[in-house]
Amino acid sequence: MKKLILIFLISLLVLSSCEQKSSDSATSPSNSESKPLVQSVLTKEQRDAMTPDEIIQSLKEGNQRFVSNTLTARDHSEQVRKSALGQFPKAVILSCLDSRVPVEDVFDRGIGDMFVGRVAGNFVNEDLLGSMEFGCKVAGAKVIMILGHEHCGAVKSAIDDVKLGNITAMLSKIKPAIAKVTYNGEKTSKNEEFVHQVCESNVRHAMSEISAKSPILKELIDSGQLRVIGGVYDMDSGKVTFLE
Ligand SMILES: [Zn+2]
Repeated sequence: MKKLILIFLISLLVLSSCEQKSSDSATSPSNSESKPLVQSVLTKEQRDAMTPDEIIQSLKEGNQRFVSNTLTARDHSEQVRKSALGQFPKAVILSCLDSRVPVEDVFDRGIGDMFVGRVAGNFVNEDLLGSMEFGCKVAGAKVIMILGHEHCGAVKSAIDDVKLGNITAMLSKIKPAIAKVTYNGEKTSKNEEFVHQVCESNVRHAMSEISAKSPILKELIDSGQLRVIGGVYDMDSGKVTFLE
């Protein structure tokens, strides 16, 4: 009887160590092909070891993979389980609401990699600055990116002075960026060149608002712990032009 119990215990041990091995490994074979799925999530140690410049470089490389249609294959179920007890994202991305800008895919990032804030027109206000302060000061992210995009409906509507419900007040947040553009041609949404200039101005305006309106983020920037960058997403290619 004792022997039987011993054999049972040993087989249990062997089984549980096998399970441990498979969940600890970073990758596992996907069902459809031999390319392994990424199962690991960013740890505090990995994130803390990265500099803001290295994080920006990783965003650039991720966007290159998106453009070339070679996104990393991820085991999302496993990543969900592994990130359940904590998150250590390396960046905060503020994007427009636009459904054609799938932010995580655009930078080839997975669960737990970055915070994503979205508002039509990618402007900052008190709520978004508070979210960024949480993401950087409390949770430790080292890069903030303002991500605008071509053919932005919010930017075009602000240019055309659209008035409708709560959209009116929302568009007023984009108006300062329009005022900053010196342009001698037609200043309507039909002029693609003007829309592009306002789009870029809107990104740069949001970037400047971060240090102007958040002493907490300014301190992180001044001490080199945080970098703020901008980007404009090209609708035709998926490529992000980085503004630094
Ligand atoms: Zn937009």
